[in-house]
Amino acid sequence: MKNEKLVMIPGPTPVVPSIQREMGRKTAAFKDPDFVRDFKEVLADLKSLWQTKGEVFVVPGSGTLAMEMAVSNLIKTGEKVLLVTHGYFGDRFGEICERKGYDYDILQSEWGSIVDPARIEEALAKNDYRAVLVTHVDTSTGVKAPVEEIGEIIGSASDTLYIVDGVCATAAEREYVDPMNIDILLTGSQKAFGVPPGLAIVWAGPRAMERRKELGQIREYYVDFDKWLPIMHDPGKYFATPAVNLVWALQESLRIIKDEGLEARFTRHRQDARIIQDTLLEMGFGLLAEKHCRAVTLSNVLYPEGIDDEEFREKLVEEGVVVAGGLGEYAGKLFRLGHMGNIDQHIIISTLAAIARTLKRCGFAGEPGKALNKYFQ
Ligand code: PMP
Repeated sequence: MKNEKLVMIPGPTPVVPSIQREMGRKTAAFKDPDFVRDFKEVLADLKSLWQTKGEVFVVPGSGTLAMEMAVSNLIKTGEKVLLVTHGYFGDRFGEICERKGYDYDILQSEWGSIVDPARIEEALAKNDYRAVLVTHVDTSTGVKAPVEEIGEIIGSASDTLYIVDGVCATAAEREYVDPMNIDILLTGSQKAFGVPPGLAIVWAGPRAMERRKELGQIREYYVDFDKWLPIMHDPGKYFATPAVNLVWALQESLRIIKDEGLEARFTRHRQDARIIQDTLLEMGFGLLAEKHCRAVTLSNVLYPEGIDDEEFREKLVEEGVVVAGGLGEYAGKLFRLGHMGNIDQHIIISTLAAIARTLKRCGFAGEPGKALNKYFQ
């Protein structure tokens, strides 16, 4: 019998049966009063859980759309922006800045480490930036930015807006919008929410909404806050068709999150990550992200000498686990293991055991299985 595939890439993450069921429901009209009520509840929960007195937008699209939506509603062509990048997805923000014609400065780190917040402070003291763009967890490196500390540096009184890409972080790493001086937090449904791909989620704090007003009409159409705001206030209205079943799936994800408690969810991710990462190191792997800035949502796992990436990942699929390859310079040198969202101990132990077996099957001389002994003590 073939092993079922456990999808342990950094998104989409495993979808639990109760969320999967929402995807399979008979699709309702988007003006159906029951759906309108459900959508309203989703929006209210997102605002209260992530603590903003501003707005939240839930629109059909992926994380990249959310990135585009964030900048389009706050920054005009020619304005000055500070981009802090820790890898591939930070660089993607750079590409967007380029297309939009922003005048942007880049602070970047070596892959695996972070930009020292003191450099951000220095740059802010020297220049008047319209916005600072930061990726909370860069999925290419497994590095976590000190989002709260950067928020303190920017402050709540400054004219500089703070945009955080939470695609690989939100609902797993600690984030609160207004309390952390975040003006826009953006994410997608397919990572730590454990919902299938297809929803872009964008929180916009009070200052971001004020800024949107100042801009008047913007060039972009689909991502314009002004187009969506009436729907977010009354989901019975129409601008563009909502992804009905995905909204239900998100409602179920939020039910799970409320049941667990957001802080308890952050703690679980921290504890699981520690045990997963310690076990991988003990098996003989390395980790790209330095310890002080290691994300809890995924691990970028460096192969021991002599292990071939393609062979390893192929054999791992035979063992029932799918992981992702490295990006950029690290293609072929590491695999990316997602461990975020609604994953339980069964999934974690099965994944680690499959990794240990695969390493052995690839000819590794050590005893990677011994690293699992801690589970039996
Ligand atoms: N930002 C980060 C940090 C990501 O990890 C990703 C996706 N891996 C994106 C943005 C882009 O999201 P999407 O693929 O959903 O467009």
